[in-house]
Amino acid sequence: MAEVTPGDCLILNVDDYVPGRYARTRLLQQVGYRVLEASTGQETLDAIELEKPDLVLLDVNLPDMSGVDVCKRLRSDPRTKTLTIVHISASSVLAGQQVNALNSGADGYLVEPIDPALLLATVNAYIRARRAEEEMRRLNEELHWFSFRVSHDLNEPLRTITSYAQLLKRRVGANIDPDARVSIDFIEEGAAKMRTFIDGLLQYSQAAAGSNEARPIDCESMLRKVTGDLTSSIHDSGAQITHDPLPVVAGTSQLEYVFQNLLSNAIKYRKPDKPPIIHISARQEEGSWLFSVTDNGIGIDPKYRERIFEIFQRLHGSEIPGAGIGLAMVRRIVRAHGGRIWVESSEGGGSTFFLKLPVEPVNQGNAAAV
Ligand code: ADP
Repeated sequence: MAEVTPGDCLILNVDDYVPGRYARTRLLQQVGYRVLEASTGQETLDAIELEKPDLVLLDVNLPDMSGVDVCKRLRSDPRTKTLTIVHISASSVLAGQQVNALNSGADGYLVEPIDPALLLATVNAYIRARRAEEEMRRLNEELHWFSFRVSHDLNEPLRTITSYAQLLKRRVGANIDPDARVSIDFIEEGAAKMRTFIDGLLQYSQAAAGSNEARPIDCESMLRKVTGDLTSSIHDSGAQITHDPLPVVAGTSQLEYVFQNLLSNAIKYRKPDKPPIIHISARQEEGSWLFSVTDNGIGIDPKYRERIFEIFQRLHGSEIPGAGIGLAMVRRIVRAHGGRIWVESSEGGGSTFFLKLPVEPVNQGNAAAV
């Protein structure tokens, strides 16, 4: 469990009722927390502009605006959307009021009077959770940077290997010894595989990095673009692709990668004797869009249905080319959209990949640590 050092933490204590605010500030300061105070909504917003607190204890009833509206404003600003905000109130204590505040973005709701020991323990718990989240975000950024660097740095020697193998082939020309030719071909093949792998790693490290803002994506035109990009494999395999009417969803351009990968896998993992028949459906349910991509391909043993979404996990050898990155990246992107992906399949019986995306856009920055 992460240690909380109160001296490193700043708490913004917002309340227009002076005695209550004073008592809370004293209590928090006594155990070492640094405390800032505000008594109106505007003062709260101004204070946060100046210094970002680790926790905001936010009274619900303020003289100039409701604490719930202050919370909504903080959540809609990219700079403050990840603040930890806990409401505190002695008058708005009904379950419906608490539900509304929590649904509007608050992380917690405390009802006064609250036992001082319980208040301190609760504040400690929120700060602990915040520290753990910050650590996770930091590690995620570090990992992102690391894989980006590694992929970049590996590309350089790889280019040297490929160009010298080609140069060697050209120099020796037609007189090349057959064994030597096979060896050079192996070098080239290995280098090409490594390039696919590095490119995938680079893409994976960049997926869902939080740089894309959600916008309306017309899935019908996205599908047209994706099938356009896959024209040659659709043609070569004789694939038939059909779809239901598709919606406009809130998402980023990375959704194109999701559909591109699901469709190209549906073609790639086809049965040898049957052209792929692929259908994409979409329906709305419980605040989400549920998409499915069904194929009549070789299918997946249900015991591997989790494993295929992990990076570098493949169920096939080099007879079917691939780096085992596609579905891991798809899952990363889907999670960054606040969605979920899973597969239903059986060996030899085709596969259906399900994709659930929230109707409301999610905050991409929050979802980056996936
Ligand atoms: P890659 O295709 O590069 O191997 P993916 O991450 O896209 O990597 O897929 C992981 C594994 O999941 C594949 O190697 C394959 O074994 C399996 N798989 C993915 N899609 C399908 C599908 N539509 N039908 C059967 N198997 C699939």
